[in-house]
Amino acid sequence: MAPVIYPTTNLTATEQMCIDHAQGIYVYDTDGKEYIEGLAGLWCTSLGYGNTELIEAITEQLTKLSFSHTFGGKTHAPIQELAEKLKTMVPIEDAYFFFGNSGSDANDTHYKMLRYYFNAIGKPEKRKIITRERGYHGVTVAAGSLTSLPANLAHFDAPVEALHILRSDAPHYYTGRKGNETEAQFVDRIIDNLEQQIIAEDPDTIAAMIMEPITGASGVIVPPEGYYEKLQAVLRKYGILVWADEVITGFGRTGADFGCTTMGIKPDLMTFAKQLSSAYFPISASVIPGWMYKEMVAPSNEVGVFGHGYTYSGHPAACAAALKTLEIYERDNLFDHAAEVGDYMQAQLREIFTDHPLVGEVRGKGLIAALELVSNKTTGATVPGGKGGALAVKACQDEGLILRAVAGNALAFCPPLIITKAEVDDMLKRAKSAVDSTYEALKA
Ligand code: PLP
Repeated sequence: MAPVIYPTTNLTATEQMCIDHAQGIYVYDTDGKEYIEGLAGLWCTSLGYGNTELIEAITEQLTKLSFSHTFGGKTHAPIQELAEKLKTMVPIEDAYFFFGNSGSDANDTHYKMLRYYFNAIGKPEKRKIITRERGYHGVTVAAGSLTSLPANLAHFDAPVEALHILRSDAPHYYTGRKGNETEAQFVDRIIDNLEQQIIAEDPDTIAAMIMEPITGASGVIVPPEGYYEKLQAVLRKYGILVWADEVITGFGRTGADFGCTTMGIKPDLMTFAKQLSSAYFPISASVIPGWMYKEMVAPSNEVGVFGHGYTYSGHPAACAAALKTLEIYERDNLFDHAAEVGDYMQAQLREIFTDHPLVGEVRGKGLIAALELVSNKTTGATVPGGKGGALAVKACQDEGLILRAVAGNALAFCPPLIITKAEVDDMLKRAKSAVDSTYEALKA
């Protein structure tokens, strides 16, 4: 077996699926078997595979200028063009962009920029960050500490206290409700918990709250109606910035330009990666408002320069990939397409799976969804040990479909944005057979 570290599996090389090539929404293993990529790789290949326009744009840029950086007084055209383009798209006034390579490093950048900004304006005590249970924000030191999944915190002595990170409730009614609580009561309770926590901690010590508009990697959680309105009212009341992690939800995924639009969030900060370049080249962006940037570079700022940046920050080919991706989204009306096909996928998922004995909840928005696999449909008790999710993923593979089980038993769907309604039908037909056979296997 090749000496590769595979962090999330104990499978041997022969048990692993070895992907060889791909086209459109399909990937093929080394035996030539075809699969629908129902998770867009890792929630990222929005334009599918083998897009020649993207390949040409990247090749052209590599031919012209294969590397340049943005340190010590240097810049280049693709990074400037990309920032100008994004500025016209994001719901942040007079936005400024820092480019990195991954969602994790973009969140670490934000963590540092917030610290830097509050130091620069003479408020170093305003440095706590609120995150939520079941949030996923990456694996680097700050992003991993902001993440609330046990595997990301356990064993690492994640410096949660040293980084001044506070945790609040996950906005998941299905698993978080108490007794006969209604959705509205659930929302009021968790918002009240948050407000009490803010008061107890002292609002003047809290910089921001990070949130995925729709939580992806820890279960595709769509917060109940009214949650974000109340959440933002509390955060604004206490002068706490709203930090939207749009690494999965950005660029059409939820049926609108951003998850913030779909969920009614007015962000102060945003984080992007994945669909920013449709995964044709690694790139991420940390977005801040102009008023924050201006203080960071103001003559009165006595904390020194913002000492941060990666070798590959704003790599010219990554910027070219992102620019072409954004051009294709716009030209082909892909956010509208995602809204229409997403509505169709959500409706079909509910029709096919709501009454399925193995499915406790069907949830999602646009082209992101999950089926919660349960051992008892009435109580919602989960299948022990994440066994439902693992079996279902394997059964999907047998049917020629790649899906992913997240948070144990949530079977997640996140196909490329270019998927058609006919392809959704095909994907859900394969998924239905797989969920049926998983149900039979668990009963046996
Ligand atoms: N934030 C969110 C919401 C994510 O879903 C992910 C990855 O799935 C990340 C951050 C981390 O991104 P990356 O894996 O590119 O570091």
